[in-house]
Amino acid sequence: MAVNVLIVDDSGVMRTMIIKTIRLSGLQVGDIHQAANGQEGLEALNQHWIDLVIVDINMPVMNGEEMIDRMLKVPDFRDVPIVVISTEGSKTRVERLQNKGARFIHKPFTPEIIRDTIKDFLGDQVFDGTAA
Ligand SMILES: [Mg+2]
Repeated sequence: MAVNVLIVDDSGVMRTMIIKTIRLSGLQVGDIHQAANGQEGLEALNQHWIDLVIVDINMPVMNGEEMIDRMLKVPDFRDVPIVVISTEGSKTRVERLQNKGARFIHKPFTPEIIRDTIKDFLGDQVFDGTAA
């Protein structure tokens, strides 16, 4: 089973880094979509089948938390796994996002943390087992 991933981050460099990392992680990646803010992220969700959302918090136009709140109100998007990757250090905010069902990874991240978080979230079956 290939996983279609949506990466939402206002930094193109960060999106590229995340894409590279998940491609190297052994995750069976299907389509990869990118968005530069929460609003573009919601548009991408409307247009494509997405199995996993990786989202930043601090972004212009619509931040990641607002995007998550809107996703939770839409039955089709409510159960899509969400991983937040952010420099955000506030414990309150991290806990609030976790209470909304999201997993949290701090920037800067290691490839292992991304792999382990996705593996823990989606299960072994979406990994090809060839990654180190
Ligand atoms: Mg940002």
